[in-house]
Amino acid sequence: MSTNSNERQTDSAPQIAVIGSNMVDLISYIRRMPKEGETLEAPDFSMGCGGKGANQAVAASRLGSKVLMVTRVGNDIFAENTIANFANNGIDTTYVLPTEATSGVAPIFVDEQSRNSILIIKGANALLTPDDLDAAESDIAKCKLIVLQLEIPLETVYAAIEMGTRLGIPVLLNPAPAQPDLVLDKIKGCEFLVPNESELSLLTGMPVDSLEDIRRAASVLLRVGVKHVIVTLGSRGALWLNTQGEELLPAAHVTPLDTTGAGDAFIGCFSHFLVQTGDIRRALIQANAYAGDSVTRRGTQTSYATAEEFARIQP
Ligand code: ADP
Repeated sequence: MSTNSNERQTDSAPQIAVIGSNMVDLISYIRRMPKEGETLEAPDFSMGCGGKGANQAVAASRLGSKVLMVTRVGNDIFAENTIANFANNGIDTTYVLPTEATSGVAPIFVDEQSRNSILIIKGANALLTPDDLDAAESDIAKCKLIVLQLEIPLETVYAAIEMGTRLGIPVLLNPAPAQPDLVLDKIKGCEFLVPNESELSLLTGMPVDSLEDIRRAASVLLRVGVKHVIVTLGSRGALWLNTQGEELLPAAHVTPLDTTGAGDAFIGCFSHFLVQTGDIRRALIQANAYAGDSVTRRGTQTSYATAEEFARIQP
């Protein structure tokens, strides 16, 4: 009997803590941008759940990980939608905290040539504090991985890295969107740093025009103390570097339809397989396959496969 109840407890314990953002994407499909003072009719509109933290949490949860989301929502109708979306995706919403503010929203304009213009209003995301993490510490402490991005205040990101180090939990930081104020010394405790090429360039102030450039820039981060640097390279896959060496893991051969949210799919999937298997290389192979699959469908979270769907194409 006691074994059963222990098993149940282990089963429901969170495995991945995503400490980050949620946004509601407000997508207007336009013929062209209005000029100053002009009112235009746009052909279509859609609303979707996004934000880098939420996207990564949804990808990991759809693959079967137990995900604890630590985030702030506003006091508006968007908040209900966001909380329902987390719950529908099986994510633990204990620390999806209501805030006297607007929710994070992203008005997006897509023209007939599929060109995007995006505004980000961080809203409640800008109010996630180190105190919020302290309040969630007893549950974060049960997790095997902490996943972070940069759509919340930097002081909260730094506090999460410190917490991970103190609790002996590996931390993965996706330094996106690129933040010029990020202090490298404050992120040296990260086990995994996962930038794309432009984020790597901004992080190090170095060019990333060739693989040799990317190697040089990544080695700066390894010297700072980060254990593994994983640079996502779009259709070329991902370059994994540590002090022992490097490996280029190729992307899936697909015809991309919409690459929005590919990086988040990659990180959610990598986190899932890392926690399930402890095998970094295997997790990277799966992450390339999962993110590659996601770019063959439109949207961000709408393009992320479930475990059953992914099993059909798994490498
Ligand atoms: P971001 O979306 O953050 O800019 P990338 O463009 O580097 O990140 O893409 C993240 C991952 O998504 C890549 O490492 C790769 O696995 C996958 N991916 C992106 N674009 C393609 C593509 N055109 N074909 C196949 N896989 C892709």
